[in-house]
Amino acid sequence: MKGSFKLGKIADIGIFVHWTFSLLIMFIIFINYRAGQSATQILLSVLFILSLFITVILHELGHALAAKRYHIKTKDITLLPIGGLARLEKIPEKPIEELIVAVAGPLVNISLALITGIFIAIPETSEELMLQLSIGINPNNFFLNFFLVNFWLALFNLIPAFPMDGGRIIRAVLSFKMQRHVATRIAARIGQFIALGFILFGFFTSPVLVFIGIFVIIGAQVEADFTETKFLLKGFKVHDILMKQFPKVDANETIKTAVSLVLDSQSKNFLITEAGIPVGTLNRDQIIMALTKNGENEFIYNVMDRNLVFLDGNSLLENSFEVIQLNKSRLMLVMENNEAAGVLDSENLVEFILINEVKAKITHDKKYR
Ligand SMILES: [Zn+2]
Repeated sequence: MKGSFKLGKIADIGIFVHWTFSLLIMFIIFINYRAGQSATQILLSVLFILSLFITVILHELGHALAAKRYHIKTKDITLLPIGGLARLEKIPEKPIEELIVAVAGPLVNISLALITGIFIAIPETSEELMLQLSIGINPNNFFLNFFLVNFWLALFNLIPAFPMDGGRIIRAVLSFKMQRHVATRIAARIGQFIALGFILFGFFTSPVLVFIGIFVIIGAQVEADFTETKFLLKGFKVHDILMKQFPKVDANETIKTAVSLVLDSQSKNFLITEAGIPVGTLNRDQIIMALTKNGENEFIYNVMDRNLVFLDGNSLLENSFEVIQLNKSRLMLVMENNEAAGVLDSENLVEFILINEVKAKITHDKKYR
């Protein structure tokens, strides 16, 4: 992710932190300072946030290491102020595998809470607990807070709504009995229903709940659409939407050439070659951007997107769809028999999906007529 800094590597997975995380730290320092807290107190609060930071990484590592059992690699783990993000190469589709990968995250928080729970005295009455929580972080209640946060994190992640782990757990459980995209749709609806409750309840209590509700409603929809799309692509190979004729531009040409190509052709995405060998891509938006920033005499090799994604013509389209989503590529090179056979244009893919959607609807209508 852009604006992220690498902290290190654990189990061969890069751990990154997004720069906005520093804003969170500054915010904590600021509110503590304004509340007239001492330097030690502020330091403790920051230390507490850092301990949560480690907690979140451990939660994501839980998912990543469980996925590794099923030979699914994790690209990286990034820590954002709103939580962690583990970019798995793919989500396991076997129900049992998805279930275990989804459960592994919250299980880390439950374990951390249990381990901390052994060593601390947990207040017996709720008044006592509230008192402990209202006085801010201090050496006496540091681990009590850590215990509670892990308890809440486990509970929060187990809410049965996408994109929370609980949503995946529900989907996995339903998938034992039904097709995956149907299970996803049901799980998404359950999640959205709960999220609606969050929003209504949040209006009277806390705006944070309203935000979480909106986040869940959108996240659930994205997940349902994604699975639906993958279902529509089932059975097709990359080869089926391969484009053999497509515009190419040499990297030594200028933006001026690229602009005329945009105006003359139907294509929006172009393959850039150097001595006939593919070296990158350039899309319409990037060409317009380069024209504005660098002028029409800029060379293409200076502005092209060098991130070239290769797809195997024989691979399943539904799997390649994930690669495309992950790389946000608009033009991919398709290889067949160790040769570049053509390209896959994302615009084409979208059309292909739309057509299959209509076809699926027609067969559905026929059934119920
Ligand atoms: Zn999780």
